[in-house]
Order: sequence, then structure tokens, then C-alpha cells
Amino acid sequence: SEMCIRDSLCAGPHCPSTGRVKAFKLQSIAGAYWRGDEKNKMLQRIYGTAFPSKEELDAYLHMLEEAARRDHRKLGKELDLFSIMEEGPGFPFFHPNGMVIRNELINYWREVHRRYGYQEIKTPMILSRKLWETSGHWDHYRENMYVTEIDNEDYAIKPMNCPGGMLVYKTHPHSYRELPIRAGELGLVHRHELSGALHGLFRVRCFTQDDAHIFCRPDQVKQEFLNVMDIISIVFKTMNFENFEAQISLRDKVNREKYIGSDDNWEKAEQAIIEACEEKGLPAKIEYGEAAFYGPKLDFMVKDAIGRRWQLGTIQVDYNLPERFELEYMGSDNQKHRPVMIHRAPFGSMERFVAVLIEHTAGKFPLWLTPE
Ligand code: ZN
Repeated sequence: SEMCIRDSLCAGPHCPSTGRVKAFKLQSIAGAYWRGDEKNKMLQRIYGTAFPSKEELDAYLHMLEEAARRDHRKLGKELDLFSIMEEGPGFPFFHPNGMVIRNELINYWREVHRRYGYQEIKTPMILSRKLWETSGHWDHYRENMYVTEIDNEDYAIKPMNCPGGMLVYKTHPHSYRELPIRAGELGLVHRHELSGALHGLFRVRCFTQDDAHIFCRPDQVKQEFLNVMDIISIVFKTMNFENFEAQISLRDKVNREKYIGSDDNWEKAEQAIIEACEEKGLPAKIEYGEAAFYGPKLDFMVKDAIGRRWQLGTIQVDYNLPERFELEYMGSDNQKHRPVMIHRAPFGSMERFVAVLIEHTAGKFPLWLTPE
């Protein structure tokens, strides 16, 4: 195992004796350079797995087989749903069959959101550098953004829908009586991913978020948060994801320079999320350092038919962007106040959701989503 550690194959923990390994299976082989250096000799690397019992090994191997059978890239081709071509790595093409599923999901999404008092907007895909500087994306998210030049000025393809949503909010003065305003947007966003990280519809470079931004008064945050939790749970149940849990993502405890906004606002937002989960009795584990740079979030994880966990929906409380964009509403005291913004997406992205649905159902979609 010393050799193993020096070669950085794995850092352990290692079995003190092979006698402890009760059930194992060799799975595949591959070429590997000694110590990962291509100037060294090529070696044969043998991959295998081991479990304390034959039953656990069998269950694991069965899961692998099932996962391969349900692979959305394979089924996507067989059912003629979508393709990803070398002309657009990470930029999926949806075929007519895939569009039937997508459009039915969107119809359903619109119906649920109308019921919960949402409006719908559409904001442009390309917006000026100045806007992304105001939002903080230019300084904090630049490496994930595709940029372009128009009339000798820098522009960026939107990686998120929020700044556009705020510009729409600012087209009118608002009174406290109008809030909350819930503006939905099925927004196509582009985010750069390394080519090695791309994976079918799970990890892509452009995707449609079933986004919405809620602008509300500080005293409405918790209720709005609870309403979104209801929407997410309705959506998951309709899709037969009976098992889901949540993760509360907070700031890193030490490393805080990457986050924008005041400590006071961060603490208020983090508290609102923790309280909402307690009120709903939703099991949630807290992760430090997983928050977005502009605010804490609550992510939903579903368990699929073969026990794998997928991250889908998300809700984020944001006191920072309304500050940066100087959003206002007129309070009952005739004074100007800052609204709070909630970002949320029950599906997460249409692409990822379709992929999870394919693998969850093994391509046997519920009747209302069946392309044929
Ligand atoms: Zn947003």
C-alpha cells in the first residue's frame, strides 16, 4: 500500500489483511503509466470491487447492471429523444419525441405555477458587461461565462436569469401591497464546463432552468419559502419521486471572501431556511461552504427507482442582488424599502430533469409524458 499511496492511486483506508475481503469481483482493465507520467512504462491496471458479504456484492453488481440498462444516453438514442453531437459538445439537440416530453413537463409546470400566483417573463440571452459587473457575475463567475463583443463593447451570454429578472422588476415603481411578485422564466442559460466533465444531459453547457424570482417584503420570506417547498413536493410526487431529502448549503465557516453581501443579511437568510425546514419537518443536512456566492440555498435530492440520489430542485434566499440593483418598494410608512429576492427551480433544469426521469422510469414514462 505504500507504493499505492506514492502512485496516488488511492490514499486508503486499506484492508489490514486480504482475509477481511469476503466477496470480490474484478471488473475491468486499463493501461496506466507508472506514477501517471507518460515518460514511464505503460502498466496494466486492474479494477475491481470488494464487499464484506456476497449479498452486498451481488446487490451492488445488480445496481450497476440496472444503471447501465437505464443509462439515459443509451435510452435517449433508442427512443429517439435527443442527441449530442461533436458539432456542439455539451449543447444537446432535442428530437421530436424528446420535445413531447419536454413540452408536457412545461405545460404541467405552467399549470402548477399559475395556481400558485406566478406570472411569466422572458429576458434576453445576451446582456452587457456592465450588467454582469453590477450583479457580481463578472468578478465572481467570469470563468463559467461565454463572452462576446457587440459594437466594440463586451457582452456575455447569460449564465443565470436573475439580473434580467431584476431589470424587469425595475421597469415600474412598486408598492408593498403588490408584493410578493412571482416572476417565472423558462430561461436558457449557458455555463462553461470542462469537456472532461460533460456527461449526457446530466452535465451540459446550456440548459433551460424552470426559474422564477420572487420579490417580497422581509416579513414574507418564510411564507414564500414554505410555498415553494410545497410546489417542489407536489412536482416530485407527480413524477413518482416519493423519496426526497434536502441539503441546506451555508457559507464556509472560515473562508468568506468569495461571498458578497453583509454578515447580517447572510445570517437572516440562513436562519429563514433552517426555520422553514423545521416547520415542514423536512429532513435536511447542513453543508458549510456549499452556498452560492450571493446567498444560502436549499437543494432537494430525490432517490430514484434503483436507490441513486439526484440533486434536482433548489431554493435560494438572496438579500444581496436586490442591494446591488437598488431594488425598491414603497412601504406602508411611505418610505422606500429593499425587497428580498428568492430564486427557485423545482425541476432544476429541463435537461437534467428529463435525464433523471429517463433513468428513473427506464424509459417507461407515465402515460401523459409518453411520446407515442
Ligand atoms: Zn436567480
